[in-house]
Amino acid sequence: MWEELKALDGEHVMQTYMGRFDVAFVRGDGTRLWDSDGKEYLDFLCGLAVVSLGHAHPAIAAAIADQAQTLVHTSNFFLNPWQPRLAAKIDGMLGGGGRVFCANSGAEANECAIKLARRYGQTNGGPERFHILSAYGSFHGRTLTTLAATGQPQKQETFQPLPTGFRQVEYADIDALAAAMDERVCAVMLEPVLGEGGVVPAPPGYLEAVRDLCNEREALLIIDEVQTGLGRTGRWFGFEHAEIEPDVVTMAKALGNGVPIGACWARESAAHALRPGDHATTFGGQALAARVALTVLEVMEEIDAPGLAEKAGARLSSGLSMLPGVASVRGHGLLLGAELDSGIDAPPVVAECLDRGLVVNAVTPTAVRLAPPLTVSDAEIDEALTILGAVLEASR
Ligand SMILES: *Cc1c(COP(=O)(O)O)cnc(C)c1O
Repeated sequence: MWEELKALDGEHVMQTYMGRFDVAFVRGDGTRLWDSDGKEYLDFLCGLAVVSLGHAHPAIAAAIADQAQTLVHTSNFFLNPWQPRLAAKIDGMLGGGGRVFCANSGAEANECAIKLARRYGQTNGGPERFHILSAYGSFHGRTLTTLAATGQPQKQETFQPLPTGFRQVEYADIDALAAAMDERVCAVMLEPVLGEGGVVPAPPGYLEAVRDLCNEREALLIIDEVQTGLGRTGRWFGFEHAEIEPDVVTMAKALGNGVPIGACWARESAAHALRPGDHATTFGGQALAARVALTVLEVMEEIDAPGLAEKAGARLSSGLSMLPGVASVRGHGLLLGAELDSGIDAPPVVAECLDRGLVVNAVTPTAVRLAPPLTVSDAEIDEALTILGAVLEASR
């Protein structure tokens, strides 16, 4: 099967992905994956922090199957039984008093947040108030507008001109943010942990200072929880490691346990900036995706997913820090980055781990990202540490 897939991909798939591995996964179960040759792997990336409940979770599979046989999609001209319930659930998790827009991905959730912020700026400051500040090293998506918000100039250059009104400042530098915060700024958009930027958590006090600044200048604080949200960091949302209340929160990756769905939550005072007719989506909040997401959140509550992530994260983190070749470990819960000793490059380490049956990712040239399912067992953690340790030992 592998040769056939490789040939079809080479001939017919747009070649937009860099450094794809020569592996095709065909089946999963919990933390395990199997490739087209029947080889077994431990999945410590879980589709990029997406499959947080593990592969082929029985309750999620049952929800997908039942809804597929009942009603998949009807458009947003009508209500379906699941979108309002999902919105209520998400709002409850964020303390209530807000509203939710259902999208299909992280970038789309952020697009909603950006359009909402511009509308808010218009009504609370005028037509010049449309600038959005974000951080260097951030990642907010690959659509043109979310790319403009993404603080990675090398990804932006090829696609100039990008939408205007986006500016970046150094992450964790409150003075830089304050200096950039003029009367044109309607919102600040930040990840509580830079995910694609290398698993870099906000330092203590930073998000609190950003919140104060946003209050003072009447700008919205948008927290991008697409990667960090829904238990991953040991809290329901990554911002809960700080003492803040955001105005807007976006989420996606783990929300459908692999079924594509995103959501943008905003507190009532911000949410009403978007009026009927301002924003829409064909697929967003359809019965299938919304029911699956609601089921994901219910299962996560039942098993206390944040608690599991915190406990398993402590074991994984301390195990990593004791491995030869690991200089330091950063992150929260089960979103961890292991910075390797100087002289050891992450990409060959990751390739060798894959060869030995462990899926991880080189989040930077010198750091390995680990993000297993939140349901990962102690034995699986120890097994992954053994594989990574052996690979690092051989790399020294
Ligand atoms: C993955 C990610 C996105 C983009 O999500 P897509 O579903 O790929 O569009 C946005 N923000 C953050 C923080 C992410 O990690």
